[in-house]
Amino acid sequence: MSGKYEFFQVIQQYLKEAARAVELDPTVEHLLSQPKNEVIVNFPVKMDNGEVKLFKGYRIQHNNILGPFKGGIRYHESVTLDDVKALAAMMTWKCSLMKLPFGGGKGGIKFNPREHSALELQKVTRRFTHALGGNIGPDYDIPAPDVGTNSQTMAWMMDTYMNTVAHVNKQSSRGVVTGKPVASGGTLGREKATGQGVVHCITEWAKDNRFNLEGCTYTVQGFGNVGANAAMILSKFGASLIAVGDHTGYLYNPEGFNEHKLTEWVREHKGIAGYPAGKPITRDEFFSVKNDIFIPAALENQITEVEAAMMHTRVVVEGANGPCSPEGERALLDKGVVIIPDVLANAGGVTVSYYEWVQNKRSESWDLEEVDARLDKQIKAVYQEVQHLARQKNIDLRTAAYGLALKRIETVYHERDIFP
Ligand code: GLU
Repeated sequence: MSGKYEFFQVIQQYLKEAARAVELDPTVEHLLSQPKNEVIVNFPVKMDNGEVKLFKGYRIQHNNILGPFKGGIRYHESVTLDDVKALAAMMTWKCSLMKLPFGGGKGGIKFNPREHSALELQKVTRRFTHALGGNIGPDYDIPAPDVGTNSQTMAWMMDTYMNTVAHVNKQSSRGVVTGKPVASGGTLGREKATGQGVVHCITEWAKDNRFNLEGCTYTVQGFGNVGANAAMILSKFGASLIAVGDHTGYLYNPEGFNEHKLTEWVREHKGIAGYPAGKPITRDEFFSVKNDIFIPAALENQITEVEAAMMHTRVVVEGANGPCSPEGERALLDKGVVIIPDVLANAGGVTVSYYEWVQNKRSESWDLEEVDARLDKQIKAVYQEVQHLARQKNIDLRTAAYGLALKRIETVYHERDIFP
């Protein structure tokens, strides 16, 4: 990794390429090339030691032609306006691809949540939600967890928002965020949904390629919500996790890690470092480990041409958003590696967020079987549509996924036309 990575430009370039591949109306392409709204707030928070710190928060609302803006809130020291714009645009494609009645949005605060106490995190979250004010709402813009945030963050956001609306609207505001704890109006199955979606893509790929998952090997970069859940679900298919990495380091175990024990360790120790059943390796060694399936589930721009040159794998399943740089992707494709793109591979999260939002609207709570069955059907059907378009047009899966997403948006723009 070197130099400044222009994530938003990368996404704009993907948009351009896909638009060409599916002959998108140039006006629609133009409209989608910039976000609709860019909200930036600066807000003070009193730290545990009495010091007042100023935080910068973003909420980018990319597009809402298909429904309310939708997408996560990221807490990370590397958050920039440029990244959030890229991630918001990807949410527009993701929701359209999955046929959800949502547009795309993304938010974030540039800070390291690991350096703060639970009380400070709560105050940052509440003050940010308050600063966003009417820029979010259950029928307008609906945040969710992302890197550095979780169901607890969402409970604080919901509670803060509920306390700002009129009393009569309080209970109907539950759907202002998704990914909430189940008792506070979340849905069963949301916690594992992104990892579950990753595995659905893997099983579809395996079925189409007559590949036996039993006894195959895989590696995971990033062992947070997405990576750990994908690994625990994949373990049921007899696949063996032989290398893993996160912000605390990289580990190798040719015999295969016990995914559940590793997850338990990470919960307790906040990282994989020190886990006894693995040999510490370098980042380069991690990328060089020969495997069948590679799951990037950390941050963007992790697989550049440098990492791609080291990798020996059959399929890269993008649990993270934007883990491959365009050059990294090109190098992998040239090697014959299949890339199941982020907007499809990690779309299980926002899909189950949609189920949560529907349940909130109807005051229902579905059982886990229902959530699981719906996600299974929805993501596998879209996977097949993407494969079909890719084959038909002889394009890669990312371009095909973008193409499908864009065509759906184009239809709606043509039906509704431009106001006034
Ligand atoms: N942050 C997740 C994503 O990138 C989930 C978004 C959501 O559930 O709204 O897809």
